[in-house]
Amino acid sequence: ENIIFNGEIIERSKVNIDIEDRGYQFGDGVYEVIRVYNGKLFTKEEHINRLYESAEKISIQIPYEKLELIQTLEELVQVNQLDTGIIYLQLTRGSFPRQHGFPKSDVPPVYVAYTREMPIPKVSMDEGVKGLLIEDIRWLRCDIKSLNLLGNILAKQKAAESGCFETIQHRGEEVTEGSSSNVFIVKDNCLITRPVSNLILNGITRQVIIKLCQENGISFKEEIFTIDDLLEADEVFISSTTSEVMPIIQVNEKVISTGKPGKITRKLQQLFQQKIGM
Ligand code: PLP
Repeated sequence: ENIIFNGEIIERSKVNIDIEDRGYQFGDGVYEVIRVYNGKLFTKEEHINRLYESAEKISIQIPYEKLELIQTLEELVQVNQLDTGIIYLQLTRGSFPRQHGFPKSDVPPVYVAYTREMPIPKVSMDEGVKGLLIEDIRWLRCDIKSLNLLGNILAKQKAAESGCFETIQHRGEEVTEGSSSNVFIVKDNCLITRPVSNLILNGITRQVIIKLCQENGISFKEEIFTIDDLLEADEVFISSTTSEVMPIIQVNEKVISTGKPGKITRKLQQLFQQKIGM
């Protein structure tokens, strides 16, 4: 299996990550997950742009050109003969004797990327899944796609233990986002999602969905909504790179509307499939 290590495609078993890598010790780094459909990277520019933005927000300088990065990722997909799956990539602040403050400025980031086969979750997308409400205990810079994911991990584990696919996090009454997804509701034929701020990640899938609404005359607004709005919604779905448009048919004990994926959710799933050419 081939991977990318500091810009070079090499055999996975040849990689050496230092025990004092700051990603390992502090979660001090940023990452992306990019979907690969039919051997092609979906919304690659958007993901790479977000990677550079996340890195900039925590003062990591990426020592590669964006185009160079994309080309190597495409080469990796080719040599690994990946058809449907994902690319995971991360950059840490590098390796340095442990101290909280940044290392000297000449310490280069450590960059790793690999591919994984991952089918489209067709059955769940058809039938819908359950969500679990949970207080959002994460830090106040959820706009950064940081390797530090403890809050998200603890939330996701709670969901799994409750037989749910995903958590729906809230700060007080306000819904923020899933543990690895954005949340949408439909009320009176209008799609609603929370506006971007420091409290959520601006999902690339979220952005694709907003564009699909604009292109197809689906009424849409970015507005803060509450737990009550969610429970009383006509439709609920979450969005992410790996889950695409995933219907939520139950939240805690409350069945959403008829308990089936809703009309607008279905429509967006269709439009999304068209967009990716499947
Ligand atoms: N919010 C969080 C916290 C995430 O981790 C993710 C993705 O993993 C998303 C939202 C959705 O983002 P995207 O659509 O870019 O995958």
